[in-house]
This record gives sequence, structure tokens and C-alpha cells, in this order.
Amino acid sequence: MESHEDRRLRQTYTGDSAWYLARTVQSREPGIRAASADQALVEHHFLSELHGGFAWAAHPVSIRATRVLTGRTEVLLDEQAFSGRGGHSYDIAEHAICRLLPTGATDGELGGVRGLRVRRVDDRGLHLQLLHASTGRLVLVGPTRERWHGLLKAHRQLVIDAGCSPLWELPQQGAAEIKFAAEHGSYEASEAGMSWLTSGLLRRIGLWHTASNAYCTRYWQRGDQTMIWELRHLYRARPMHDEFTALLRSPLWGPPLTIWKQHCDCHSRRPDPGGQPHPAYQRQCTFEYHHPDRPGVLQVRFRTMEPQKRDDPGVRAALEAAGADPGWLNRVLPVHVETSDAA
Ligand SMILES: [Zn+2]
Repeated sequence: MESHEDRRLRQTYTGDSAWYLARTVQSREPGIRAASADQALVEHHFLSELHGGFAWAAHPVSIRATRVLTGRTEVLLDEQAFSGRGGHSYDIAEHAICRLLPTGATDGELGGVRGLRVRRVDDRGLHLQLLHASTGRLVLVGPTRERWHGLLKAHRQLVIDAGCSPLWELPQQGAAEIKFAAEHGSYEASEAGMSWLTSGLLRRIGLWHTASNAYCTRYWQRGDQTMIWELRHLYRARPMHDEFTALLRSPLWGPPLTIWKQHCDCHSRRPDPGGQPHPAYQRQCTFEYHHPDRPGVLQVRFRTMEPQKRDDPGVRAALEAAGADPGWLNRVLPVHVETSDAA
């Protein structure tokens, strides 16, 4: 059974609510379980395909929390995100199915994740499974059952209208999936080799919210078994990268990662008059984490960077509109920043 301290750590790492964690405390041991190979693969494909963080949402990369349960992992999605200064909003669940569900184009090319299938929709959410890793299951949680059905129906029509084939309900691999495996199978297998790492990050998605100082978080897959996370934060916003690294390296709660390379720019330049760096100066500390015996690298770029003046307070307004927690917002993007360049 988890102690109060362990429960607080689980909240920090997973992003889950204190209410839920207190209600389910009896059934858990401290720490975050590692995924089986099949489970890690579906989690890897989800995270690397989602391309989160290119809009403003309540939580970094639009994921509120992850919940590791027996036989499945649940991903709790934010409802909406805002992109750009105009505040154009879009639905995260719709974005997720567009990115993830496989389709075959007229030229035979594959869109989405090869072999990913919708197994069912229930009151919990959208159940996803890979044909070639069928003991793993991922459940996207957010919209109601009716809303999921509506999104799937609309997406299917969109795909058909574009002259493509929906593949996410086929019992076997579709033609585009077979072609993709033949042409890119070795690359796909190489990237899948780091699924233990990607899955480990997804299971600790809360860290980017609870333990990071960034007002803007983005990530992408570089293609050489490296996942890059870019954190844009204000000068002096806390916690700093060393505290974040300590959490990543916690023996029981963190993923099994060690620092492979690091470049720290924190103390390498003279402050400008007044002790503040020039607003236009972007400083980056770069850390690379890995496991000495396993494939995969996590690169985290801690960038000191104010929002562009013309976008601020647009950034804060977009985060507020998306429902970001006021306490978090005041930590990462306090209101006074908007006038910091007046001097
Ligand atoms: Zn540094």
C-alpha cells in the first residue's frame, strides 16, 4: 500500500488527481511499473505520433495524466487546445485520431500508425490495440462514448472523401500497411527499440506539468532513436533543470536513465545591466539521458526564452482559455512578465 508521500510522488509523475489516487491507494505498490514489450510498443506509437505541444492547452502536450492499470494504460486527454494568436481552437481527441488511425492513400502510402486498431468504444474511452503487439492496450479518455462515435464517423467520412481507405477496423493488415512494413520495416523496428523509453515518459507525463518550469513544451521524434523535448521557460523560473533531472533519475519513481551528455549555459554569460538577460537572448541548456545498455536517447532542451512581446499576453490568454491551472500559470508565466520590457 502506498504511503502519503508515495501518493504525492505518483501525482507528480503521472499527473493524476489526488482524489483518484486516494480512492485507489489500496491496490498499488510504490513506483511506476515498466511496460511489457507489447504494451510499450502501443504507448510508443501513441506518443511519437501525437506530436503534442504545438498549441496551447491546459496541460503541456495536451495530456492531463496517464494511468497504468492491469491490462491497459489510460491516457487522459485535455479537451481542447488553441493555436496561434487568433485563438483558433481544436479538439484534442479529434487531433489524436487523425494522427494515429491508419489510412491508405491512393498511391499506396500509409498515414497513421501501422497495425493500430480501434477495439471498442465504451464509457471509459477509445480502446486501441496493435495487430502485431496484441497484448497491449491503450485507452484514450476524455470525450463521451457518443462523442467518440461521432468523431470516428466523421473521420471515416473525411478519409473516404479524400479518396483514401480507413484501415483501423480491418481484421488484418491493409495493403498500405503491408507495403509500409516491406519498405520501412527495419526503420520501424529500430525506432520501436526505444519504446521502453517512450513508454516510460508517457507513464510519467505529469512531470512536464508538475516539475517543469516551462510555459511551452513541445516534443518530436528525431528518427535516430532520439526523442527531443523542448521546454521554453522564463529567466529564473523554477524548478531549474537540475531539479528536473533529479526527478528523472529517481531510482524508484523515475525512468531508468542516466545523464549521457550535458551542456549548461546557465552561468556562461555576463548578465546585462540590472541582472537580467536581454529579452531577445535565447539561452539553452541541453541534457541527453540514456540507458547504457538499451537503445534510445531522451534529449531535453531547457530554453530560456520569453514569449515574443507581440504574442504576450496572447500566450497567457490562450493558456487561460484552454483551462490551464492558475497556480501553474502564475509559476511559469506570471502576469508581470508582460511589462518586464518596459524598462
Ligand atoms: Zn543550465
